[in-house]
Amino acid sequence: MKLASTIRTIPDFPKPGIMFRDITTLLGDAQAFTLAVDELVGAFAGTDIDKVACIEARGFILGGAVAHILGAGVVPLRKKGKLPHDRISSAYQLEYGMDIIEMHTDAIESGERVLLIDDLIATGGTAMAGIDLLKRGGAEIVGAAFVIDLPDLGGARRLEAVGIKVVSLVG
Ligand code: IMP
Repeated sequence: MKLASTIRTIPDFPKPGIMFRDITTLLGDAQAFTLAVDELVGAFAGTDIDKVACIEARGFILGGAVAHILGAGVVPLRKKGKLPHDRISSAYQLEYGMDIIEMHTDAIESGERVLLIDDLIATGGTAMAGIDLLKRGGAEIVGAAFVIDLPDLGGARRLEAVGIKVVSLVG
C-alpha cells in the first residue's frame, strides 16, 4: 500500500492559496494508520527512546501510538495556555505573525532520550520550537519523524543542519 494515496489535498484551506495536506483519511484507514505508525517506529529500531514528544494536535494521534509500541512515555507540546503546570515556551514564525508552543518544566528528566513526532514538516519552524523546548528541558534528541515532508519549504534541512536525524514517510 502507498501511504501517499491515503492523504488528500484540500485547496484553499485554511486560507486561499494554501494546499492543505489532510491526513484524516490516512488516520481513518486502519491499514494505512498501522503502516504509518509501524514505519515511524521502524525508522528508530534499535534506538533507546525514553519519551516521545508530540506536537498539538495531529502529532498527538501519531505520537501516542508510536510511544505505546516503543514502551515510551508521551510529552505533549501544546499551544500556549493549554498546559496547567509550570511551563517553558518557545515562539516560532508563522507565515503571518508568531505562535507559541509550551512544555511542562518537569516533562523531561535530564538526559532522557526523546523522539519528536508531528504529522507534517513544512518550514520546520514548529519542529525547531519543539526541539528548543526539549533541549532546554534537558532532553537528548534522538530524532524527529513526520508522516509528510514538504521538501520545497526546507524544514527537514533546517533540522538536519543542527544535527537532528529526520525521518519522513511521504515527500
Ligand atoms: P512548519 O512549522 O512550517 O514546519 O509547519 C508544520 C506545522 O504546521 C505542523 O504542526 C503541521 O501540523 C502544520 N501544517 C502545516 N501545513 C500543513 C498541512 O498542509 N497539513 C497539515 N498540517 C500542516
